[in-house]
Amino acid sequence: MSQSAPILPGATLGVLGSGQLGRMFALEARRMGYRVHTYSPDSDSPTGQVADREVAASYDDLDAVREFASRVDVVTFEFENVPAVTAETCAAECPVRPAGEVLHITQNRSREKGFLRQHGFPVTPFRDVLSRADLTAAVAELGAPAVLKTAAFGYDGKGQVKLASADPAALDAAWAEIDAPAVLEAFIDFELEVSVVGARGLDGQIALYPVFENAHVDHILDLTVCPARIPEATARQAREVATGILEALDVVGVVCVEFFVNRDGSVMVNEIAPRPHNSGHLTFGAARTSQFAQQVRAVCGLPLGDPALYEPAAMTNLLGDLWLPHTPDWAAAIAHPGVALHLYGKAEPRAGRKMGHITATADSPDLAAALALKARSALR
Ligand code: AMP
Repeated sequence: MSQSAPILPGATLGVLGSGQLGRMFALEARRMGYRVHTYSPDSDSPTGQVADREVAASYDDLDAVREFASRVDVVTFEFENVPAVTAETCAAECPVRPAGEVLHITQNRSREKGFLRQHGFPVTPFRDVLSRADLTAAVAELGAPAVLKTAAFGYDGKGQVKLASADPAALDAAWAEIDAPAVLEAFIDFELEVSVVGARGLDGQIALYPVFENAHVDHILDLTVCPARIPEATARQAREVATGILEALDVVGVVCVEFFVNRDGSVMVNEIAPRPHNSGHLTFGAARTSQFAQQVRAVCGLPLGDPALYEPAAMTNLLGDLWLPHTPDWAAAIAHPGVALHLYGKAEPRAGRKMGHITATADSPDLAAALALKARSALR
């Protein structure tokens, strides 16, 4: 069901998924006077704790999905790996933003990379791999090192195997581990990683945040710094590519485009997420309009907000590992005036699980990064 009239405060927004992204979306939506319903298989979830209604049911339970969608004015996502039929079922009841087609493309690496290549956007060299024989052919074409990634359901480095060489035994082992539709990507010796988070409104208006610079540890985002410490020409190229992708996807909502920055300063798209992104968390507090407030505005058909940062900022993730052997020292971490603590209300701190984050603002990106890391160290 499509609709062009704005969805105004007082209306009810539905979010599929119930993690921290939905939680921050719900906090911003409530601040603007909306009601929020969340749907996922979980209960007492990060989103459910701050929502008006939490539905705990499977994404395949289409009766429950229909009932959920019939009680909200628009459906959006904080988790893109929902079955296509779930989005279609919602779309029969109310507008779904971004549309199911955007999810369809971005929830599968093969479709996503094919879409990027077809539209002429710079993308990591890749080959589709459906069999062990395809893998041999792909490694012969792309060379080693390379990374084999499952086409579906991959995140934070899950479903990925690095291939150091074209040695047949290594290919056997990699294929045995993945054994599903996959893509082989050339391993990129990048200078650094950046992302561009942007929103596109119902009227086609686009608002991009300044470029985020991202450092990963064990494939999981560890530190984001904004603005990215990169040449102006690189930032411009990343922003132009992100703008082109938002338009080509014809998206209504928030999208994150992750890039590798090559040593010559050019950029290549690594991944697209059709929702707010971990690298954009620092906008919650450091920008005039957070990525979550921007998602509310975009999916409600309202004018987009100003994405400018008040001052340079940094964000560092808090993984469950920090809870061992004892609860972190929250007071020590937030003692500095430039530091803010965000916790997601997750009961069980497991190693590698994203439990919260710290943001810091300062006069320069370097100082903000140092402050965020110092605050995190103080937790121990
Ligand atoms: P992904 O889940 O594909 O975003 O991968 C997570 C992280 O693994 C990236 O942010 C990179 O740090 C690293 N990585 C993934 N693919 C490649 C690649 N083709 N070359 C080099 N590093 C990669």
